[in-house]
Amino acid sequence: MRNGFGGGLQAGGRMRKAGIKDVSLRRILSLFAPYKGQLTVIVLLALGGAVIGLVPPLIMKEIIDTAIPQQSVRLLAYLAGLLVALPLVSGMLGVAQNHLNTKVAQGVMRDLRMSLFQNLQRQSMSFFTASRSGEVVQRLTEDIQAVQSVVTSLVVSTLTQIVIVFTTIGILFALDWRLAIVALIILPAFVLPVRKVAGVRKRLRTETQKVRADMSAQLAEIFGVSGAMLTRIFTREQQQEQKFGAMNQQVMDLELRLNLIGRWYMMFLGVLGPLGTAIIYIYGGYSVIQGTMTIGAIVAFAAYLGRLYSPVGTLLNLHVEVGTALGVFQRIFEYQDRKPEVVDEAGGRELPPIRGAIAVRDVSFAYSQGNDVLSAISFEAQAGEVIALVGPSGAGKSTLIGLMARLHDPTKGTIEIDGFDVKKVSLESLRRQIAYVTQESFLFHATVRDNLLFAKEDATEDELDDACRKAYIYEFVQSLPHGYDNMVGERGHRLSGGERQRLAIARALLKNPRILILDEATSHLDSESEAYVQAALEQLMRERTTLVIAHRLSTVLSADRILVLEKGTIVESGTHQEMLEHNGLYARLYRTQFADKTEKTDKSNEMDMIN
Ligand code: ADP
Repeated sequence: MRNGFGGGLQAGGRMRKAGIKDVSLRRILSLFAPYKGQLTVIVLLALGGAVIGLVPPLIMKEIIDTAIPQQSVRLLAYLAGLLVALPLVSGMLGVAQNHLNTKVAQGVMRDLRMSLFQNLQRQSMSFFTASRSGEVVQRLTEDIQAVQSVVTSLVVSTLTQIVIVFTTIGILFALDWRLAIVALIILPAFVLPVRKVAGVRKRLRTETQKVRADMSAQLAEIFGVSGAMLTRIFTREQQQEQKFGAMNQQVMDLELRLNLIGRWYMMFLGVLGPLGTAIIYIYGGYSVIQGTMTIGAIVAFAAYLGRLYSPVGTLLNLHVEVGTALGVFQRIFEYQDRKPEVVDEAGGRELPPIRGAIAVRDVSFAYSQGNDVLSAISFEAQAGEVIALVGPSGAGKSTLIGLMARLHDPTKGTIEIDGFDVKKVSLESLRRQIAYVTQESFLFHATVRDNLLFAKEDATEDELDDACRKAYIYEFVQSLPHGYDNMVGERGHRLSGGERQRLAIARALLKNPRILILDEATSHLDSESEAYVQAALEQLMRERTTLVIAHRLSTVLSADRILVLEKGTIVESGTHQEMLEHNGLYARLYRTQFADKTEKTDKSNEMDMIN
C-alpha cells in the first residue's frame, strides 16, 4: 500500500516522530473552525475560573491583616462569605465549561468519524485486504476518542495554566518581591523531578498501550469463530493459554510499574510541597519579626505557591502532550487523505440498463507492481451466456471476477460491458447491474428481512416471497419463529451453510442483475442442501450472463464455455467435450481428480477438481 500500513507498531513509531511539519497545525485548527464561537466561550469561562481562583488567598490576607486586627466582625463575615461564594461561582463556571468542552470535542469527533467513514466507504477492496484486521475500527474509534483529551487537556487546560502561572507570579511580586524571587529560585527543584517522572510515565504508558492493543487483537483472533475453531481442531488450547498468560502478566507488570512511578511522583510533590512552604515561612517569618512583612502576606504567599508549582510542571510537559496529539491527528489525517484506487472517472456517465455482454480485452492485473497475477486475459461472453472458470488454486480466478464490478481495476487492458468501458461509467450504475454470490455468503447480524433488503431497499413483501421461493428458502424462512423478522445467527436459529447460501441467492435475485458473478462453494453440503442450492442457482442464472468459478460437474457441463486458468493466463477454453478431446490441463485435472468421483458418487455431485 502506498502510504504503508503497518499495524499498530509502526503507527506507534510514527506517532512519536510526528512533528509540526508532518501535521499542519492549520489543518488541525480547521477542524475546530465550525466551533469557533463555543471555543471562545470555553476560553473565557476557563479564564474567568482561573482569575476567580486567584482571589481566596488575598481574602485570607485581608482576614488576617485587616479584619482580625481591626476587630471588625462585619468585615470578617463579609470576607468569609466571599470565601464560600467564590468557589461556588467558579464551580458553576467549571460546569458550564466542562459541558461546552465535551460538546465541542464530541462535535469534532463526530465530524471526523463521519469523514473517515465516508472516505473508507470509497476505498477499493485492496485497502481492506491489506489492512490488519481491527486497525480500521481502531482508528475510527480509539484514535478519534483521543481527540477529546486534546480539546480538554491540551487547548483548555494549557491556556488556563498559562494564565494561572503568570497572574500568580505577578501577585507574588506584588505581595513581596524578595520572597517572590526566593520562591522562583526554588521552583526548578520542584519541577525538574516531576518532569523526569513524567517522561518515564509516558514511556511506560506507551508500552502498556501497545501490549494492551496486542492483547485485544489476539483475543479477537482467538475468540473469533474461525480462530476458536482452529484452536479446537488443532488442540492448541494449552499453547494459546500460555501465550495469553505471558501477555496478561506483562500487562500486570507494566501497570504495577506505572502505578509505582505514579506513587513516587506523588511522594515527591508531597515532600517538596512542605519544603517550599517551610522555606517561605522561615524567610517570611523572619521578615515579619523584622516588621517588613505582614502575617497575612505570608499565608497568602504560601497559598499561592501551591497554585504555582503544579501548573508549571504541566506546562513543562507540554511538548509531550503536543507530540501525542499531533500523532493522533496524523493517524487520522492519513486515513482522511487516503485516495481510493478505484474512482469514478470525472464525467463518467451512467451505464444504461444493459443486456449483459462482457468483453475482456488483453487484461493484466498485479496486486503489487511487477507481480502479474493476471496477464493478457481476453475473452467474450454474449448476453445470457454462462462462462465457467476452472483452474488450480491461486490461478487468479477470484481476482478476475473481481475486475467485473471494479473491486479493483486492471493494470492493463479494458473490460467492456455492452461496449461500455467499465472505467468510463459511474461505479454506482455499474455495480447496480452486477451481483456477486461468493463462497462465504456474508450475512449481517440483522433480521432475515434486513439482509434481503440490503439488495433492494424498497422490495415489497411479494418480491421477498418470490425471491425466497426461487431460492428454495421460502419454507425455511416461514418455519422460523419470527419469519422474515428473525435474527440471522441468533442463538438457536443459526443457519446452515446451505441455508446461508440460498439466502444469499435470494438476495441476488432481489437485485435482479443482468450479470451474475458466482463463486461456487467448495464446502461440501449434504446432498439434499446441495440439490437445493443447485436448484436455486439455476433459477438465479436463468437469462443472465454468468461468470462462475466452477467446482461442480453440473456447472461445467451446462456452461456455454469453460476457461481454464493457470498462473494468470487462459491456457485452454472450450466446452467440456472439446477440451476432453484436446487432452490438455482440463482433461488431466478431470481425469485425476474428478472422473473417479463421478463413478463413486453420482453424476450431479461436486466436482472437486479445483483447489
Ligand atoms: P484463485 O481464485 O484462482 O484461487 P486468486 O485470484 O485468489 O486465485 O489469487 C491469485 C493470486 O493472487 C494468488 O497468488 C494470490 O496469492 C494473490 N492474491 C490474491 N489476493 C491478493 C491480495 N489481496 N493481495 C495480494 N495478492 C493477492
